[in-house]
Amino acid sequence: MFNKILIANRGEIAVRIIRACKELGIKTVAIYSEADTDSLHVAYADEAICVGAAKSQFSYLNTPNILNAALISGAEAVHPGFGYFSENPLFAEACEACGLVFIGPKSTVMELMGDKAEAKRTAIKAGCPVIPGGDGLLENEEEALRLANEMGYPVRFKATAGGGGRGIRVVSNSSEVQNAYRVASAEAEAAFGNGALYIEKDIQNPRHIEVQILGDMHGNYVHLGERECSIQRRNQKLIEEAPSCAIDETTRESMGKAAIALAKEVGYYSAGTIEYLLDSDNNFYFMEMNTRIQVEHPVSEYVSGVDIVKEQLRVACGEKLSVTQDDINIRGHAIECRILAEDPSNNFAPSAGVIKNLVLPGGPGVRVDTHIYDGYEVPPYYDAMICKIIVYGKDREEAIIRMKRALSETNIDGIKTNIKYQYKILENPYFEKGDITTSFILDKMNND
Ligand code: ADP
Ligand code: ADP
Ligand code: MG
Repeated sequence: MFNKILIANRGEIAVRIIRACKELGIKTVAIYSEADTDSLHVAYADEAICVGAAKSQFSYLNTPNILNAALISGAEAVHPGFGYFSENPLFAEACEACGLVFIGPKSTVMELMGDKAEAKRTAIKAGCPVIPGGDGLLENEEEALRLANEMGYPVRFKATAGGGGRGIRVVSNSSEVQNAYRVASAEAEAAFGNGALYIEKDIQNPRHIEVQILGDMHGNYVHLGERECSIQRRNQKLIEEAPSCAIDETTRESMGKAAIALAKEVGYYSAGTIEYLLDSDNNFYFMEMNTRIQVEHPVSEYVSGVDIVKEQLRVACGEKLSVTQDDINIRGHAIECRILAEDPSNNFAPSAGVIKNLVLPGGPGVRVDTHIYDGYEVPPYYDAMICKIIVYGKDREEAIIRMKRALSETNIDGIKTNIKYQYKILENPYFEKGDITTSFILDKMNND
């Protein structure tokens, strides 16, 4: 096992990774920006090195400073967390060139799956059903219009480099093509430095269901069942659960098998997620692969009993996975609510400031992954997610009751949060019945 690793991230995921390291006896090096001096991940790590100014481009995305921090501290490997460099093959290569292990899949595999249009081609090769659409990238607006007319509306234009719901536009008819194409492409260019788009059918009222897989360098694979991630606002997840009440044992098997077939096809190792859309007839279609740890990984950890971050660390240093498929028995039900520093009553505007009167929930079946504490100042520079509340219950009903209890115990003053909004979702009768699709927020929550 590694002796020391560097965590190239901030916030709750940095704290999460440090916790796994402590339990495995691995020393940790945190990096931080000038705005994060008082952050919990800095306090928890064995060493901490400031890598630059507040804005991420100068610190958390500052490759030379991060690599220098790793080399100076004697770290052997780098865990990228999610976001930032987690799906960046150039960064992974730079680590390798410095003799550092990048904790994730091989950079070539990351590159292949990070190009979403190319990843769909690979999925087809592996026999995995994909969302119907064009083959490869759109050359220009004219081609986009021609293909959209051929396929029939609605369609989606999607950024091939996309992530976090950015660079996606729904197109309902031919008059919308030009604008949607330009806006999606510009958004993708700004966010990812790559404006290339692909086209696919807009699946009507789908569920977003994804499968967590793990692979090692010895050709062993397991899947940890599925996560239901249909509760989304603007293509971004808000609540995730495991398992999904829409999936029976047979569908679970085939989704898992298809996910592993795809992972094998590309020689994938480490933790990864195959995202699918499920249509109203229960057909599933590959949408994309995320080649990193995911925000919602704790719900799978609760129902499978597997520590996904520890498995990533084992795999990265060449060990075998500690579990086989026969060891995995999905039990009970887990739900995660993403607590965001934003104001639902003011069009979800981001909210920064000093946290006061903080009370976090606890008790049976409650897990809180966060970097906040009383008196902590939420900086205005980063992602709005400040806390994840995850609950476990014997079934979905108990998990919902428990989450409501946990949310009602939680108090955060000094900034605006979406805690009450999350509570409203949980008490919505459609949510309670499990009658949800990706348009739940739009259709069933009347304030957005
Ligand atoms: P990202 O890389 O930004 O996560 P995804 O391809 O995973 O992008 O899509 C994000 C979300 O957008 C999905 O979870 C789903 O809600 C919606 N979406 C994407 N493609 C389609 C589609 N073809 N039909 C319907 N919804 C879609
Ligand atoms: P997932 O696909 O893992 O469910 P998302 O699609 O929401 O999650 O992608 C991860 C998101 O997390 C990115 O949109 C990014 O803006 C955000 N992010 C990146 N780094 C951090 C961080 N350190 N803390 C919180 N959020 C982050
Ligand atoms: Mg996605």
